[in-house]
Amino acid sequence: MAEQSKIWLSSPHMGGDEQKFVKEAFDTNWIAPLGPNVTSFENAIATYIDNNVHVAALSSGTGAIHLALELLGVSSGDEVLCQSFTFSASANPIAYLGATPVFVDSEKDTWNISPILLRKAIVDRIAKGKKPKAIVAVHLYGMPYKVTEVQKVATEFNIPIVEDSAEALGSTYNAIKCGSFGDIGILSFNGNKIITTSGGGALTSKNEEVKKKAVFLATQARDEAPHYQHSVVGYNYRMSNVLAGIGRGQMLVLDDRVAARRANYQYYYDNLNAIPSIEFLDEPKGSFSNRWLSCILTPSFNSREAIRLALEKENIESRPLWKPMHVQPVFENCPNYMDGTSENLFERGLCLPSGSNLEEEDLERVVHIIKSHIL
Ligand SMILES: *Cc1c(COP(=O)(O)O)cnc(C)c1O
Repeated sequence: MAEQSKIWLSSPHMGGDEQKFVKEAFDTNWIAPLGPNVTSFENAIATYIDNNVHVAALSSGTGAIHLALELLGVSSGDEVLCQSFTFSASANPIAYLGATPVFVDSEKDTWNISPILLRKAIVDRIAKGKKPKAIVAVHLYGMPYKVTEVQKVATEFNIPIVEDSAEALGSTYNAIKCGSFGDIGILSFNGNKIITTSGGGALTSKNEEVKKKAVFLATQARDEAPHYQHSVVGYNYRMSNVLAGIGRGQMLVLDDRVAARRANYQYYYDNLNAIPSIEFLDEPKGSFSNRWLSCILTPSFNSREAIRLALEKENIESRPLWKPMHVQPVFENCPNYMDGTSENLFERGLCLPSGSNLEEEDLERVVHIIKSHIL
């Protein structure tokens, strides 16, 4: 039998206008480093998220988190609270700065940072002699974290929030777009994200000074002088004008991409939710998820693996939920405040193919295999 075509977890999906904007960069020789596409892309993101937000387009979401933490004053020897249930890029920049991540477990309603454990962690770190410098909270898989509750804890102790919206462009909380809640927010346009520039990211802030400082640091921290002069250590983190052209094209189809990802989720939900051993994560009241990845929970590690391997055999890519940071070899010695939630999600959960370019027959194939392999 001929091998079935590959179904990817989340593959890039161009809209059609990207090459036009990239061609503009070529035609005007604005190939590098900066130019009109970067400004237009930044403006398009700001218009989309919140007109009061200032946006700096950067080379990656990881770089954006690095700059965000530095701008919040994180330095060597500090502690930074971080959601454990996330991709490693949420935590790695803490280590770049010589600081220590302190991991906090998730709660069951959103799978994101637990406000209760967050408060407990802060109280305990202060009692041990060090007040954490920042909180990295993540809207994982596009599901907004409990913004009001997390913000309340942060305000109580006057600790700034880095809002990791890498997976949540297009998601909203109480009708306000993700990327506008943190003291500093970050976005990612990596190849597997809801829209992509092949690689890229952005930093967002309602404080224009923060954007200006981010751009300064991202372009080698050049002082004003005719020669190259530097008073602080800089980075090469700015987005190129060519890639920003892809981003401009992608912004035109962002709402379509959100709708398509949500339709994937709805398809899986409609066809699998009747099976008692399969669970979905509903949107809490007031939350709207872009459903970047559609995830299911199975009863056990074995049942999750049975499905994953059956899909793999049929040339379909799926993936366990993120392995929590506090059990990653690189971070296992860091302090953590856990109640078992994220480890349980990791054990039982699976991300299903979720690209905005999937056809109904792809989704049918996935559902059919899951139905015949659920333990
Ligand atoms: C993708 C991702 C990042 C990092 O973004 P890059 O652009 O790939 O550097 C950070 N946090 C989360 C939660 C992500 O999913």
